[in-house]
Amino acid sequence: MYQDKVLVCKDCGKEFVWTAGEQQFYAEKGFQNEPVRCKECREAKKRRNHQYGARRDKKAFGMSR
Ligand SMILES: [Zn+2]
Repeated sequence: MYQDKVLVCKDCGKEFVWTAGEQQFYAEKGFQNEPVRCKECREAKKRRNHQYGARRDKKAFGMSR
């Protein structure tokens, strides 16, 4: 049994709801950790990763830090 849970996003500091459905999804996937980011930040991160992935030469990699 899962219940909606309020978590605080690590990136933007806002509270977000980790829904029962998402918790079930995590359990099915075998994820051990709770999400640390809200959906918006997760998607923003995914978009960034996608951009880096598209041009993954050494220069871009070195500039990321
Ligand atoms: Zn966030």
